[in-house]
Amino acid sequence: MTDPRTTVRRTDWPQGGSTPLVTPLQPSVVYRSRDPDELDAQYSEGSAFTYAREGHPNAEVLARKIDALEGARDGFVTGSGMSAVGAMFLGLLSAGDHVVGADQLYGRSLRMMRQDLPRLGIETTLADATDVESVRRALRPETRLILVEVVSNPTIRVADMERIAALAKEAGVLLAVDNTFTTPRLFQPLAQGADIVIHSVTKLLAGHSDATLGYVGAKDPKLAAKMMEANVTFGLTASPFDCWLAERGMQSFDLRLDKAEANARALGDALAEMEGMRRVLYPGRPDHPDHNRAQALLNGRGGNMLSFEIEGGRAAANALARAAEGIAFAPTLGDVGTTLSHPNSSSHRLVPEEDRKAVGISEGFFRVSVGVEPADLLIEEFGAAVAAARAVRD
Ligand SMILES: *Cc1c(COP(=O)(O)O)cnc(C)c1O
Repeated sequence: MTDPRTTVRRTDWPQGGSTPLVTPLQPSVVYRSRDPDELDAQYSEGSAFTYAREGHPNAEVLARKIDALEGARDGFVTGSGMSAVGAMFLGLLSAGDHVVGADQLYGRSLRMMRQDLPRLGIETTLADATDVESVRRALRPETRLILVEVVSNPTIRVADMERIAALAKEAGVLLAVDNTFTTPRLFQPLAQGADIVIHSVTKLLAGHSDATLGYVGAKDPKLAAKMMEANVTFGLTASPFDCWLAERGMQSFDLRLDKAEANARALGDALAEMEGMRRVLYPGRPDHPDHNRAQALLNGRGGNMLSFEIEGGRAAANALARAAEGIAFAPTLGDVGTTLSHPNSSSHRLVPEEDRKAVGISEGFFRVSVGVEPADLLIEEFGAAVAAARAVRD
């Protein structure tokens, strides 16, 4: 019998000699050591878990899985996609350095480039990643890093990755790729000349919209270690439960992506035939402005993201979103189910009108993150939604 006065204390975990099939969830913030000698040894060898902000088993398991997909070593997970971007900048840059970013980066990354890095004494320049000369012109002697996304959001333009990688190498500048949209199934940045790869694991990798996480991987373990130090120091650490959920989600990542991609292809073709449709943007379609580059870069694949533009203004857009009842109108991407977003009322709300016009984002512009439902259901639902928008065209 256990002493009833000891209920406050932890008891041993009953193993019984059996091994669970499922990855265990370990929420412990801290780990016990036998004595100061053992703790000392654990710290100096870095071999054991001591305190969860510095690392924990669920983060470790998840990071090794993403490492394997990206061909990285010593990658690490962070509390969100943005903290992955943050860990990279905080780990590698100092005041006086200069960064070049693509001008169509994820909204918060753009904000970091425009406001937060300059506030910390790091100057930034934005360039058009579909045009290597634009990136070249942005370089300065003090440029340390170039940050790009392979496929831009929400206009689905494809960066000139091959030339940008060659330029970065020639200039001796680090190249970082946010691979969230493309995923390692379509594009592997480290094998294509990038030094650093970043993910919002929140999106396609975890895939169920129930965990907020990021990942940073690098070719050079010394680079990875510097960014990992920033992750620990600035406390960007991921929660064990989120890592556990994401690791489970990743077990079906390949299957989900392949099915969602087949759906995106079918839905894109169907949308293009619908009355009242101005344009459909999908890299797998021959009418996409960067189709040839996408084919070469993405191994003939197109991914699960597409955008389209209908005729009409806000009233037509409202009618479309309301009529697409089964499709969640939600500003995210990569969920197992299809989601619809409207950049003009979400990600691009605060972007000046002329800048939105320049990249072709109007009231009738929608982005779709295609999920794994049956394709015929999606085509039926979008058909009804586009028809409803047509009925109130303004
Ligand atoms: C969502 C997203 C991010 C940010 O990720 P969070 O997990 O939301 O912090 C960064 N880059 C891209 C391309 C994204 O789509």
